[in-house]
Amino acid sequence: MDGIAILAPEEARRIAAGEVIDRPAALVREFLDNAIDAKAANIDITLEEGGCKKTECSDDGAGMSRKDLELCWHTHATSKIRALADLDTALTLGFRGEALAAASAVSRIEIITSTDGREAWQLETGPGGSSPVKLEQTRRTKGTTIRALNLFESIPARKRFLKREGSEAVLCRQAFIDKALAFNAINFRFIQDGKLKDFLPAVSSKKERFAAATGHQNFLHEINVTGDGFSAVIVLGGPELYRNDRRQLFVFANGRRVHDFSLIQAMEYGSQGWFPNGTHPVGAVYVEVDPSLADFNIHPAKREVRFRDPGTIHHAVSGAVKSFFHNLYLGRVGKDSRRDAEAQRTQREEGEEVGRDSRRPQTEGLKEAQRTRREEGEEGGEFKFSYDSAISASLRLRESFSQCLCESSSQFPVYAGRVFGVFILIEWGDKLYIIDQHAAHERILYDRFLKEPIPKQELLAPIPFCTDSDDEDAFLEKKREELSRLGIDIEKDETGWRIDALPSDWRLGDAATVKEILELRTAGENMAERWAATMCCRAAIKDGDYPDDETALALGKEALALKDPRCPHGRPVWTEISKEALYKAVRRD
Ligand code: ADP
Ligand code: MG
Repeated sequence: MDGIAILAPEEARRIAAGEVIDRPAALVREFLDNAIDAKAANIDITLEEGGCKKTECSDDGAGMSRKDLELCWHTHATSKIRALADLDTALTLGFRGEALAAASAVSRIEIITSTDGREAWQLETGPGGSSPVKLEQTRRTKGTTIRALNLFESIPARKRFLKREGSEAVLCRQAFIDKALAFNAINFRFIQDGKLKDFLPAVSSKKERFAAATGHQNFLHEINVTGDGFSAVIVLGGPELYRNDRRQLFVFANGRRVHDFSLIQAMEYGSQGWFPNGTHPVGAVYVEVDPSLADFNIHPAKREVRFRDPGTIHHAVSGAVKSFFHNLYLGRVGKDSRRDAEAQRTQREEGEEVGRDSRRPQTEGLKEAQRTRREEGEEGGEFKFSYDSAISASLRLRESFSQCLCESSSQFPVYAGRVFGVFILIEWGDKLYIIDQHAAHERILYDRFLKEPIPKQELLAPIPFCTDSDDEDAFLEKKREELSRLGIDIEKDETGWRIDALPSDWRLGDAATVKEILELRTAGENMAERWAATMCCRAAIKDGDYPDDETALALGKEALALKDPRCPHGRPVWTEISKEALYKAVRRD
């Protein structure tokens, strides 16, 4: 080549487009941003072949007029700002006016839009052209459908960098979940190759959306913080959900998922002492900051943010988390110290295993809460019940006493409490049933796993892993479909294997999970039974776990309805004491 030349505008555009649209997931992210900016209440993402063939976003937002439709795909076309200074007040996700331009530089784009459901227009462009291929009137309800077809078809150099379809689809889904986590008031659907993979209905809190997207139904908390020019909502899992990595910790700033390690640290710092050493919470912090106090214009995909005053936000987040945990467990000291003792005992017996486990080991935080209680002049002590649990116990007593007076025995199963960290008590008819919670849950799960398809949960962050032998490779290749029926989705790409989905409520850590899967090699024909046994043993609640009252009652009722009330190892699931026997024991007749 010979000296400097100015690139032809079309070439310059295709090169610049690479910074914004590097793969289908970027299309998903940008299209979702636009639909959210258009105030949609319903958004559907539809993918074909990992988004490489088609990435479509359909919304019921504001739509575009014919004039806007003609302009929207040009470089620097935006309705959101007019000048750089507007960034100080812009609350929209988009503002650079480059996403649709970039998308149409590297794929064929079709947009169908209507502002009122009466007049609708359809536009087709590209790839790479500078005038539309088609612009005509059509029909559509209010909103916009935009689809990108055959991404990078005309740019082989870019297409080569795409991963296998399955991997691209996983990245698209991650981009989808990132947006859905931040915008809980919108209905989101994710449809992949004709199948509805995720439906996240609108909910009123970030916590509920986080629960739906991650599958953590219990032990999540929501904490609110406000400060000068910012506010934050923190959704945080309790120590019951501890993880051995940070892959389920998210940071959002003004609705965008950002890679901000310092805010992750702030959440961890605040949780210090409540989690076993070397483990991490799950959760998300959603910071809303006055746009003039943050710069989002420093990364092509807006994946970074620069706060004017990061220290203050950091401090507020860690402080709020810290006092939250402190207050949460202060009121549960008595109960928790017993549980801690139980957990420690079980852990010693079973060997330490860090992962998605629900046992709560001894923590510094608890000790601190106990110390504080003592300093506050209360009687500290291992087995002291907290005030509120004492009240609810006496209320329960009164309730069952009055029930006793009016009908002398309960017609329906009534939850009567828990004892020894192991048993659930149910009063029913004139009997007291004492149910072994672990054995009951094991049996219920075992029956369910063998009878019904195992419900699975797509992982927010797939687990990559490598095999040690050709044997293992051959096993995984051969049993892929069978594993999928057992709730385990695995995929292989150029970097190795990866777990994309696991049975819902799966609790083991990553390394142990991989080990369990590879061990199925030795089960031969009995893979399903082996897996059901592994799963119920792992997934069943453990001794020392304290399910909430509703869960305990539901579990108890299900246990009493079991046809064969024995755990898979043959132990009875429950035993009973009659009112008569009890009366006799205290000589009451
Ligand atoms: P930006 O979002 O930065 O403004 P884009 O290239 O993403 O730039 O979009 C250009 C313009 O097209 C937007 O400013 C908006 O006016 C319009 N637009 C894009 N997608 C939609 C949509 N789904 N609904 C309504 N308007 C849209
Ligand atoms: Mg945009």
